[in-house]
Amino acid sequence: MENDIVTYDHFPGDPFANHQPDDETKGALDVIQWAYGQYGSDVVYACSFGAEGIVLIDLISKVKPDAEVVFLDTGLHFQETYELIEKVKNRYPELRIHMKKPELTVEEQAEEHGSALWKRQPDQCCYIRKIKPLEDALSGAAAWFSGLRREQSPSRSKTDFVNKDERFKLIKVCPLIHWTWEDVWQYIRLNRLDYNELHDQNYPSVGCIPCTSPSTDESRSGRWKGFNKTECGLHTAGNNNS
Ligand code: SF4
Repeated sequence: MENDIVTYDHFPGDPFANHQPDDETKGALDVIQWAYGQYGSDVVYACSFGAEGIVLIDLISKVKPDAEVVFLDTGLHFQETYELIEKVKNRYPELRIHMKKPELTVEEQAEEHGSALWKRQPDQCCYIRKIKPLEDALSGAAAWFSGLRREQSPSRSKTDFVNKDERFKLIKVCPLIHWTWEDVWQYIRLNRLDYNELHDQNYPSVGCIPCTSPSTDESRSGRWKGFNKTECGLHTAGNNNS
């Protein structure tokens, strides 16, 4: 499996399609090792520092302690998220964590597009503050990691370990596809990982302040409440660049 070349232009399908993971990480460590074997330093982890994110950081750091990690710093995150990032930096000092900012500050965006764009056109706001910055961060990379899990939402239920990513024209590697919400939290507790304090205040999924609400279930239903939107667009192949 290690010798197969898997790129966006040459994608023979998920090399782990018939893999029956039976280890305690449900295949995640195998997939992470495979990814670094394939792409070396040309694989980037785009981390949101949610519950899945800190699990994946812990697993990735076992394989590549100096892995490259990108956080899309929209300028609209909760203080608790920034505090968590500092704790992660202390725990994994070799990790190369980049705080990737959009070209426009929040104030400049308000001047160009009107205030509170997220209330009127959240897709456009996500494009400016997340998708374009990630596009820039991934330029030159061969692949990126994502913490998607199949049970998170219907749109994620068919995610494979290794995916052809039409959005960024790269390979997207998703080591946690078989993990349940319980698996994630069991791992966090067993390994005493730091996590976002907002998770203890009914925020299962934490994003930008204007687009994150408390939720009593474990899904992403607290994101973009009032809009028919559950994804920022990083994981869909649509064209929101207007
Ligand atoms: Fe804008 Fe909300 Fe998207 Fe953040 S999550 S970039 S505030 S629309």
